[in-house]
Amino acid sequence: MLDVKGLSKAFGDLQVLKNVDLSVQEGERIAIIGASGCGKSVFLRCLNLLEVPDEGHITIGGEEITAKGANIDLIRRQMGMVFQKFHLFSHYNVMDNLCLAPTYLLGMDRQTAEKKAVSLLSQVGLASKAKVYPTVLSGGQQQRIAICRALMMEPKVLLLDEPTSALDPTMVGEVLAVIRMLAKKKLTMIIVTHEMKFAQEVANRVLFFADHGIYEQGTPEEIFNSPKREKTISFIRKHT
Ligand code: ATP
Ligand code: MG
Repeated sequence: MLDVKGLSKAFGDLQVLKNVDLSVQEGERIAIIGASGCGKSVFLRCLNLLEVPDEGHITIGGEEITAKGANIDLIRRQMGMVFQKFHLFSHYNVMDNLCLAPTYLLGMDRQTAEKKAVSLLSQVGLASKAKVYPTVLSGGQQQRIAICRALMMEPKVLLLDEPTSALDPTMVGEVLAVIRMLAKKKLTMIIVTHEMKFAQEVANRVLFFADHGIYEQGTPEEIFNSPKREKTISFIRKHT
């Protein structure tokens, strides 16, 4: 479903990613962990071309998005992205936040979009918030809305970059619950997270990033309980 081959990315002299390969099957939940600055966010941003890779090929659903002349907008719609800091449009209410992209980009009619939005909002427990503006919502509520907004486009893959790390600890649980629900529905997800327990619980595969790429990967059991390589061992020891 998603294939990454030989992905490299540098900023000037700083080599962040070098020759990364990854193949994700439909329905997988991949957790990415690793030290600050090791390139987790850059990797996610490369996947939907928010950063342009220096080298490598990315294919999603059989379409190579890194090909010359590929329709980036079309492709980006297949990858939903949820950021640490929500990035909702503050001057639009919740319903408009959800309906803008599908109506403008997919040509969905407003009524269909609203129906879909209402259904998603009720799944995350926020049906009553459709008409309010994001600024009056708590961080946890805003992040749940941001997840709904990404889902409005029915992405093939949902990319989440530390979706709970900007949240007050009391609100982490409500966002994790939503992600857990999506995992149960077998939505394909790649999630960068510092929540080790959560990664262990929700992911079927964990990637530990170091040395410009995937340093070690395995099942949560393998990575958290019997990591094999030196840097993984010391990272896991420090963070669990
Ligand atoms: P954290 O856990 O702190 O979020 P990370 O693993 O997500 O860390 P990245 O944001 O991917 O780290 O950054 C990897 C490296 O690339 C860092 O050294 C960062 O400073 C650098 N970097 C990221 N984006 C840019 C950019 N646009 N220009 C220059 N350097 C960048
Ligand atoms: Mg990051």
